[in-house]
Formats: sequence, C-alpha cells, structure tokens
Amino acid sequence: MTDLRLNPIYAEMPVTVFEHMSGLARSLGAINLGQGFPDTPPPPALTAAAIRAMETRSQQYPPSMGVPELRDAVAAYYGRTQGLALTREQVVVTSGATEAIAAAILAVVGAGDEVLLFSPAYDAYAPLVRRAGGVPVFIPLSPPDWRYDEARIRAAISPRTRALILNDPLNPTGSVASPEELALLARIACEHDLVAICDEVWEAVRFDGLAHRSLLAEPGMAERAIKIGSAGKIFGATGWKVGWMVGDAALTTVLAKAHQFLTFTTPPMLQWAAAEGLADPAITDALHAEWSASRGVLIEGLSAAGFAVLANKATWFACIDLPASGIAIDDRTFSERAVREAGVASIPLSALWEGDGGPTTILRLCHCKPPAMLEDALARLSAWRASL
Ligand code: GLN
Repeated sequence: MTDLRLNPIYAEMPVTVFEHMSGLARSLGAINLGQGFPDTPPPPALTAAAIRAMETRSQQYPPSMGVPELRDAVAAYYGRTQGLALTREQVVVTSGATEAIAAAILAVVGAGDEVLLFSPAYDAYAPLVRRAGGVPVFIPLSPPDWRYDEARIRAAISPRTRALILNDPLNPTGSVASPEELALLARIACEHDLVAICDEVWEAVRFDGLAHRSLLAEPGMAERAIKIGSAGKIFGATGWKVGWMVGDAALTTVLAKAHQFLTFTTPPMLQWAAAEGLADPAITDALHAEWSASRGVLIEGLSAAGFAVLANKATWFACIDLPASGIAIDDRTFSERAVREAGVASIPLSALWEGDGGPTTILRLCHCKPPAMLEDALARLSAWRASL
C-alpha cells in the first residue's frame, strides 16, 4: 500500500464532535441542540445589508486586512460596548474566529514553544498549537465553578511557555472570568512575558448583567493580547464566517501576514453587512433579548424535567450534570443514545477535554432555538429519560 505519510496530527484525529453530532442529527432527523447555531435566520436588516452590498458594491477581493468600513465599525463597537480605544490599524478581519485563532497561533507559536490551554477547551486550539510545532499544556478547570487557579497556572509554566489561550466567556461551560481572575491572568502574562490569545467570541452573549471586559484592557496587556471576535456569534449568523483579531498595531501587522496566507481575505459583501450591523445597537439588543428568553426556556424546562443544570452566565449553552440528575451513564453514551433514541443531539463535555481526569458526566445543550423546538426537545428528553 502507498505510504503517503500524511501529517499524523490530522491522519489520526477523529472528525470534530460538532460535525459528528450535526451529521447524526441530519441523518436521523433529530433536533440538534449540539453544535451551537440559531435555527432562525439572522436579523432581516443584516440580510438586507448583505444583499444590497452584493448587488451594488464589489464582490472582488477586498483588502487582505478587511474593508475599512468593518475595521472602523469593530473599533467603534468595542469603544461603545467595552470602553476600548482602538483604531482601524488595530483590526484584522478574518474568515471566522477559527481562522483568527489559527492565524494568531501561527504568528506567535514556534517549534517547542509551550502554550497554556484551559480544559475544557474548543477542540481547535490544541491541534493548531501542535501543527505550529508547539506543545499544548493543559490546565484543568473544575466543575461546578470552572475557576482559574493561581497555583495550577503557575505550576504549568516553564521557561518554554510562550503564550496562553483564554476563552472568556467560556464555551462549553458558560462561565465568565471574574475581575480578579482577569487581573491574575494579566499579572502572570506580564511576569512571564506571554502573549495572550483571547478568544472572546461570546462577549456579546452574557446574561450576568455585567459588561464584558477583555483581558486586553488589563494593565500591561495592550501590547501582548490578541482579542478575537466573531460576527457569527454577535449576529447569530454562524455560516457567515466573519471574524477579526484586534491588538496593538505592531502585533496586528504580523498577524495580518499569517492571515494573508491562510484565507487572504473574507467575502466583502458580508464584511460591509457586518459593519452596518455593528453600528446598530437595536439589532444586537434584540438578539440579546431573544437569547435571554431561549436560555430561560431551556434552563427552566430542563429543571422542571428533573435535570440538574449547572450555573451559566453566558454563551448559547447550558450544561447538565448527569449523576445529579439521577442518570447513571457517562456523557458520551448519553449523547450517542439520546440522538438515536430520543431524537435530540447534544455535546458531551468530555469531547472537549484532552487526556484523562476531566469530568465525564456533563452534557452541553444549545438554547438559541425557537421556543417550540426547545419544548419538543425537552418533551423528548424527559420521556426518554423515564425509560432509562
Ligand atoms: N463553536 C461551536 C460550538 O461550540 C462549534 C464550532 C464548530 O463546529 N467548528 O458549537
């Protein structure tokens, strides 16, 4: 047999849990509360802006760093919502936040560099670090609070530590770093001269009443933090794949070079539409109200059906604790059976945890769905659990 010697990082990895569960949901006709995406279209004003841009403006290569309108709009949006003073030069538009994460890792991480990751984590981080020649070093967070522990972080640092990746608010747990934790992470990053890659795609999906505060805003972080955002999450338009990286101008100049040889650029029509959306608080406020309501429907419905829901302050997700819900099977088994037997897809948290020692009995469910769909899923789960 031909030995093509494909890269083992990819040759030996399974398809992502999100693709796996969405594929099962599609083929089985199950309700998909696994992968995070809304089932309704994005706000009509946003779709209209995209159509208008497509019909009346260019559909050819825009500048690699993004159209000026979107770069300005991102800077203005963060000025308005997070008090950050940014300019266009500090924004690089990418084809989704996952591309931004890849570009940031490629720009920062070299052979043998260690990168601190917190578990559970988005499953793209570690393979990207490895592909860049780096070594992921996992720091476990513990349920139910998922707090950042100073001793654990300090114990994970070595002379080779080059960067940390912080996802705040955190998917899959829906937890949010406290002001003290942000200050701690900033202090450690400055002490050890680390770059902080800040995946803040859930910044606009917070339900704790507090404004999002970026690690980039902490003392000493402006020149070492790369803040990553996503129009897909802000507008509930996950298929648009419009994201961005924000940082010090010296940093973004280098980040832009990593981006230019990944996707080079991002569809300009969608960039112009995203720019219009960011400038209109009515659009983002309405989405926030919709997601607050859907979160309530899922959490209340799960509790009423006897599921133990973990506290969550952000994201499109709620997690349930299976043993505390009186269910004696692990999360992967629950997920694989629920999609087939109850017709509801979910994400087992252990799929977002590399190595041993993480919780294996927590399940993530997505709430940004129409109320009737959530009610249907809740009825199915509740009837099915009675048969377990
Ligand atoms: N962030 C999405 C989620 O948590 C998944 C993204 C993806 O499927 N690549 O559901």
